[in-house]
Amino acid sequence: MSIAKQLYQLQEVELEIESNERTLRQIASQLGENQAVVRIQTKLALEQQRLEELRGRQHSAEWEIDDITSKLTTAEEELYSGRIRNPKELTNLQHEVDGLRVKRNQLEDKALEIMDQVEFAAASVAAISSELKTVEAEWHSQQQQLSTEMEQLKTTLSDLEHKQQLLLAKINPQSVEFYRELKKQKRQAVARVEQGICRGCRISLPVAELQRARSDNLVQCSSCGRILFLA
Ligand SMILES: [Zn+2]
Repeated sequence: MSIAKQLYQLQEVELEIESNERTLRQIASQLGENQAVVRIQTKLALEQQRLEELRGRQHSAEWEIDDITSKLTTAEEELYSGRIRNPKELTNLQHEVDGLRVKRNQLEDKALEIMDQVEFAAASVAAISSELKTVEAEWHSQQQQLSTEMEQLKTTLSDLEHKQQLLLAKINPQSVEFYRELKKQKRQAVARVEQGICRGCRISLPVAELQRARSDNLVQCSSCGRILFLA
């Protein structure tokens, strides 16, 4: 086998290794990444807090109503007890009763309004909770899938690295070093030649160059400098 062919095979294996390593890094960055879950958890916590606040306001409104109702009951009892005879006192008491009734009506309206808001917030909390469950389930299954993919990739990589070692053992070290230097500059150090064209730079090669490349020596493309490999 020509050195160019061996180097080409090495390059194929190394490009595959690099591509697998890139995928592996991507997977590693996605593993444990749970922004979507955290975002919904935060949303849920805020909505739950709002619901608690509204329930607190609902209870205060109810206490206020109870308080006014008991004041009203006392005042009404007093008004209709017949114990008060003084007309001015009676008028004042009547005013007090009327005032308390107005205030209680207002508070009842307010309490109803808050109750509507409580219902709305409770429905929203339920919806977000169910959304969170779905997203968490998706996240768990995605994480499992990623872990499986990662294990498969690691196996593939170890096979490829074994292949790489076998190839490296066959090629003389100077050629490997030359290949490495060229790879640093061009990423692909070896270019296939197809129908007289260098696939590295797509330039048609002179006949003399093709003939030299056919020999066992390492010949570089006069245009892009890559090692030419005639399949
Ligand atoms: Zn070229």
